[in-house]
Amino acid sequence: MRRRLILPVAIGLGLIAGLLPLGAAFYLSRERAVATEQEHLQDYARWTLQRADLAISRAKAGLRRLVMENHDLCTPRHLQRLQQITMDVLSIEDIRVFRNDRLVCDSRGPAQRLVSMAKPNVMISDDIGLTLGWGMGSPFPEMLVVSFGPYQALLNRDRLVDVLHDTPMTLGIATLDGRLVAKSGVTNSRMVDQLSSSEMGGSTDREVFASVRGSDFRAFAVSERSVVDARTSEELWKLLPIAVAVSALVIGLIIWMSRQRMSLAGELRTGIAYREFIAHYQPIIELATGRCVGAEALIRWRKPDGTWVRPDLFIPYAEEHHLIAPITDIMIERVLDDMKAALQSDPSLHIAINISAEDIQSGRFLNVLEEGVKRTEINPEQIWLEATERGFMEADAARGTIARARQLGHAVAIDDFGTGYSSLSLLESLPLNVLKIDKSFIDAIGREAATSIVTPAIIEMAHRLKFVLVAEGIETEQQDRYLKKAGVEFGQGWLYSKALPPKDFLLFYSTHNKPFI
Ligand code: C2E
Ligand code: CA
Ligand code: CA
Repeated sequence: MRRRLILPVAIGLGLIAGLLPLGAAFYLSRERAVATEQEHLQDYARWTLQRADLAISRAKAGLRRLVMENHDLCTPRHLQRLQQITMDVLSIEDIRVFRNDRLVCDSRGPAQRLVSMAKPNVMISDDIGLTLGWGMGSPFPEMLVVSFGPYQALLNRDRLVDVLHDTPMTLGIATLDGRLVAKSGVTNSRMVDQLSSSEMGGSTDREVFASVRGSDFRAFAVSERSVVDARTSEELWKLLPIAVAVSALVIGLIIWMSRQRMSLAGELRTGIAYREFIAHYQPIIELATGRCVGAEALIRWRKPDGTWVRPDLFIPYAEEHHLIAPITDIMIERVLDDMKAALQSDPSLHIAINISAEDIQSGRFLNVLEEGVKRTEINPEQIWLEATERGFMEADAARGTIARARQLGHAVAIDDFGTGYSSLSLLESLPLNVLKIDKSFIDAIGREAATSIVTPAIIEMAHRLKFVLVAEGIETEQQDRYLKKAGVEFGQGWLYSKALPPKDFLLFYSTHNKPFI
């Protein structure tokens, strides 16, 4: 990802990551609140059903007993039994006795008024009838009438649904064919009608509801949405710490990742992914003739904001963080692309590519190079490789890579010669064929008496070992003259040219590759 995008993207992701768990916590707590409330209502519906079943079955049992006792109707003894059962069975308010559908007496005594028998509108057993909502008119409450034989028990309907509840709710009882028997509470009649006629559980914008079915009745419970809202905030307090912790964790992770991305390693990865590296070319001069015979490819990192990063700032870092291999690959491809035409048309031109210690150890880059050289039909002898002494520490691995490179036709140079610690015998044992004298020895020419003894010694030794010599960092005419006289074949330095962009180098090459002395 581009560096300037990292911050906005991180902020965007951070916002999402921060809000998502919170949103999920709100959503989940609502869902859980509804589910919990539904279970709660289910319990109450079950208890209501039990209570109604119990009240009605007790009334049935009382009437059955009276029928079995086979009383002469309305005798003092019979009236006493009526009173007793009315007292014993809590839900029974009164028991009435009929003959030929006419009231003859009730638990208080012989009938005073002409009252006809309530017609049962539901049969709950074969012989027990129920009359729903029978009344004598205001102000008397409507009763539930249980009929058996000549008897009718009047039941207070409120008692059927008289279940103590901990939160506000409506409780109801209905017959299985969907007729409301009793209800407590204020829920709207449409909801009550629906719940009376079928078993339902669920929620709407306004209510949550649940129902259960028994053998004779169906019971239901409904609560207002406000109860759920109260439960929601309860659940939310439980979930919120988890949500906050998850948000914090994810935001922390995003911050960590974006810092990583914005670190040099992250930038390098980005640079590699977007191939932000290009090659500049520093001309290499044949000292005796002053002709340009080649160039060293030097990496340049141009960041998207237009700034340039010097290789000595990022190459050691890339080596340390094992990011050098893809950089080497990019450089190989750049050189082949930039110089393909020039290398093909002029077999005397060569380009030197810098290879890191890790590359020398693994030898992996040679596959990329071999494939590239084949693809571009360049003579491998025109590609030189440069590596510092650090690359030769693991001598066996280095020997394999160098030997293979030589076999493929490449010249291999030891770079920065004289600055490392490798022994001469090690160098002799490696199949190297070019030696680049480090700039520090060139700087010493004509200045420090002590080093100027070392420089001729290096040159002499290199000649003895049949190395091709390249002097680096030549800045003065004096150095040029000295090296020429000492028989150093090639040189590079600001005296001739700095590293140039591909086009500029090609122009330089075309004007400097003819002998001018
Ligand atoms: P090096 O391989 O020793 O490259 C020579 C460095 O000396 C270059 O610096 C070059 O611009 C500079 N130089 C050449 N002539 C003169 C001169 O007359 N005076 C002075 N003061 N400097 C001169 P640069 O391009 O900054 O590269 C620095 C180092 O970065 C290179 O040293 C090399 O170690 C590394 N490097 C550059 N390109 C690559 C690459 O493609 N791959 C790898 N692995 N390392 C690279
Ligand atoms: Ca070099
Ligand atoms: Ca060098």
